[in-house]
Amino acid sequence: MDLVLREALLDGRAVDVLIRSGSIHRIADPGGLEPERTQAPPRDRSVRTLDARGLHLLPSLRNGHTHAAMTLFRGWGDDLPLMTWLQERIWPAEARMTPEDVYQGTRLALVEMIRSGTTFLNDMYWHAPAIARAVSELGLRAHIGAAFVDLGQTEVAERWGREMDAWLEQRNDWGPRVRATMAPHAIYTVGRDNLRRLGDRAKKLELLLHIHLSETREEVERCQAEHGVRPARLLQELGLVDERLVAAHGIYLDQEELDLLGTAGATVVTNPAANLKLATGGIFDYPGARKAGIRVVLGTDGVASNNNLDLFEDMKLAALIQKHRAVDATVLPAPEALALTTTTPAQLFGPGSGRVAEGEPADLILVDLSGPATRPGHDLASDLVYAANGSVVHTTICDGRVLMHDRRIEVVDEEEVIREAAAAARRVTGGD
Ligand SMILES: [Zn+2]
Repeated sequence: MDLVLREALLDGRAVDVLIRSGSIHRIADPGGLEPERTQAPPRDRSVRTLDARGLHLLPSLRNGHTHAAMTLFRGWGDDLPLMTWLQERIWPAEARMTPEDVYQGTRLALVEMIRSGTTFLNDMYWHAPAIARAVSELGLRAHIGAAFVDLGQTEVAERWGREMDAWLEQRNDWGPRVRATMAPHAIYTVGRDNLRRLGDRAKKLELLLHIHLSETREEVERCQAEHGVRPARLLQELGLVDERLVAAHGIYLDQEELDLLGTAGATVVTNPAANLKLATGGIFDYPGARKAGIRVVLGTDGVASNNNLDLFEDMKLAALIQKHRAVDATVLPAPEALALTTTTPAQLFGPGSGRVAEGEPADLILVDLSGPATRPGHDLASDLVYAANGSVVHTTICDGRVLMHDRRIEVVDEEEVIREAAAAARRVTGGD
């Protein structure tokens, strides 16, 4: 079926957009698509037309680092010290999570993402097939980590290894919108030999390698004490630093580490809300990273440390915190903040370039900026980054499929998702 967006605003002018077979087939002046539509193949003649008058057409957003199923822990154990929160709340609850719980938590996350204009997530959690099932059903795109932890114990390594193998085996069975990554959790939860092994495997399988890196001062100090080098240097020694490396956080990377990551073509995902909430005490050196040539994208991290998946909020936070850190209001201007969730992650994760243009994948949002908070409308990028939040998203499209229109989710019964996730949350937190 063809999809037509009628009179959407693109770069300030009204256009009609024809979406066919998952891609932007043609962008024309209003009324200019008629000849195209009659050329559709006979079996594909049906056309759905969406009235997009007054709505801004933009690329949908991409979340560079998250743990989607942690929606089940939203608001459960906030304002606790990091280790108390992990040891007394999160880890015992996670140990109770079944694949079904992960599926339900992920579905809740995906509905929230669709509502706030996100159609891609780079996820890291366990029970990867349950995540893939949710993503596949709800029509988004995802890179899903083959997560791995060993905690220095053989039996732990074997358990996670089995789960990783099972996911890697089936990684191509979920269609082109779902891809796998290798995802060793962090240098303090995975030993040297296993890190090296997973790095080799990522190379062999040509997968991205997704890891938490340099998130706290303690991680750096422990690394120096145990290995005699800082975290990024350790990863380099173990062969993990190349253009496939996707490092979440990178708060305590020093200049030498930034340079070695930049030279290798690696990526850092900055997660400002989670970093602030968990009181990590530092701020990622965005200007230094850019100068070193590092690709920087934006993530929300899990809901348990955010507490939502609204990338509009994180764009604003990223821009503000970087200006504050640099004592320079020109750092990370609004168009650059938008690029952190659109064109830059597209270079890394694909598909397409993260722009609205003919031939690009139809991963799109229609945004309604007619409300008072985004008026009078002097500057679109500024309004999106500094004034808006995810509630401005009116319609979300991924791979040419309408996931939400006029703020109504079309791919799943939203009430049922919320109900089932609440039941799963009660189970895993011991609420019943
Ligand atoms: Zn994380």
